[in-house]
Amino acid sequence: MSYRNLMKSIFNRGAGAIPQSMKLQGQVPNAAGGHYFPVNDWVRLDRFLVLGTEGGTYYAGALSLTLENAEAVLRCLDEDGALTVRRIVDVSQSGRAPKNDPALFALALATAHGDANVRRAALDALPKVARTGTHVLAFAGYVETVRGWGRSLRRGVAGWFTGMESERLALQAVKYRQREGWALRDLLRLAHPLTDDLASRALFDWIAHPENGKAIANARGAAPLIDGLYRLRDAKSVRQAADLIVKYSLPREAVPTELLNEREVWDALLVAMPLWAMVRNLGKMSAVGLIAPGSAAARYVADRLADAEQLRRARMHPVQILLALRTYAQGRGALGSLTWAPAPVVSDALDQAFDRSFGFVTPTGKRILVAVDVSGSMHGSACAGSKVLNCLEAGAAMAMSFVRVEDQAHVIAFDTGARAVGVSRRQRLDDVTRTFAQWSGGTDVAQPMRYALDKGLEVDAFVVVTDNETWAGNQHPVQALARYRKQVNPEAKAVVMACSANGGSVVPDDDARAMGIAGFDAAAPRIVNDFLRS
Ligand code: CA
Repeated sequence: MSYRNLMKSIFNRGAGAIPQSMKLQGQVPNAAGGHYFPVNDWVRLDRFLVLGTEGGTYYAGALSLTLENAEAVLRCLDEDGALTVRRIVDVSQSGRAPKNDPALFALALATAHGDANVRRAALDALPKVARTGTHVLAFAGYVETVRGWGRSLRRGVAGWFTGMESERLALQAVKYRQREGWALRDLLRLAHPLTDDLASRALFDWIAHPENGKAIANARGAAPLIDGLYRLRDAKSVRQAADLIVKYSLPREAVPTELLNEREVWDALLVAMPLWAMVRNLGKMSAVGLIAPGSAAARYVADRLADAEQLRRARMHPVQILLALRTYAQGRGALGSLTWAPAPVVSDALDQAFDRSFGFVTPTGKRILVAVDVSGSMHGSACAGSKVLNCLEAGAAMAMSFVRVEDQAHVIAFDTGARAVGVSRRQRLDDVTRTFAQWSGGTDVAQPMRYALDKGLEVDAFVVVTDNETWAGNQHPVQALARYRKQVNPEAKAVVMACSANGGSVVPDDDARAMGIAGFDAAAPRIVNDFLRS
């Protein structure tokens, strides 16, 4: 090769081909022995908030990955603390992430920042990010590792208690006893919230002194839910318990353990059960015989899942729905002790709810090649820390969300080769994810572009779902993309949906026709849709 061509290979990312084991200008080594472009700290912040690092990835342990991301969050805070806090609030409130813990963790870091204005903004945002009892307990667990319980932090936590309506606070106190070594009573004793609201004051007193007879009596008077909780404890029969559950709209956490194997009790709980609790308890309600093929409860559950407005208000995340579908449709719980016969009407409703949970997107009309990385690392990385859902399965489902909307989407699976996947847009996702799970090989993210070149496919966009840990090709993905643009479509766009919160991407951020986005982001289909239209 002449020096001219060598220079073009290295600096232009276009003309030539150099193996992924060697770096192009601007690249850094990835964890797999290949190279990618480093993402900037703001991209990394978004990735962390959406994807988290719980459980680590195939290549990186949870500890080192979390440390790297924490450092990126700290750099964002240094650069623009107010903006960082706004982004944390935005991702958390909009329900874009499968889990809220990364947002709580990042907010805890912000409350320890050197700049008092940043600390104040973070503490002011606490009720927006910690919206439930379990959130605030997790936050307490994180925050104590990075700062002391100074006056401002106590005041921030006090504000969390006083800002919540008493009925809602009563529900939090009944549902969330403990997390990360913290209970609401510990927080209450530290923060000493003061309020003029009599009902709230009675509840604070009861949470702090749950054994005190006077506190119990006052709390029962202040909140019907607490009264119902104590009445339920004294229930003489299953029938009476069920009546009380309905009358007081009691949650599952209020029910004594020995009653939780009763069908009648679950039937009563289902009446006022929030959508997300319903989805989470499908297995249990099926195992006790309430939800069964052809049952009225199965129909009721399916109808609620089909209600777009309920789904929108509940802010159910697609990954949570997918997880529920996977578990429910296989007829046994993650721990293996519960089994049931799945009702197809419920599985189908979950499948539809998955699509709807992304919000409404209209087809772009573009020709899209949707390419899912099926290499070993995608199997080996948990999606959002899940024990039963890996990145490959969740990624395949994300890919299907495009196929189901777009008229001209074509789906392939790639590792060191690429093949068309015979999936229909009407196939259910638990079935589709099984199809993708059959492959597992090395990783070459140049494959989708090479596939399109080889087949002479004209596409407007490549949508690639991958962890970006590419290493196996004799040509970099950007080089394959450049060749595709040169030979077939100069306007071809590339979207890379990242499946782990690592520090790189196969596309550089200076390519205006390429974008990276965190995979499993509930907003991804909408953002990608806008990008493809632009
Ligand atoms: Ca891989």
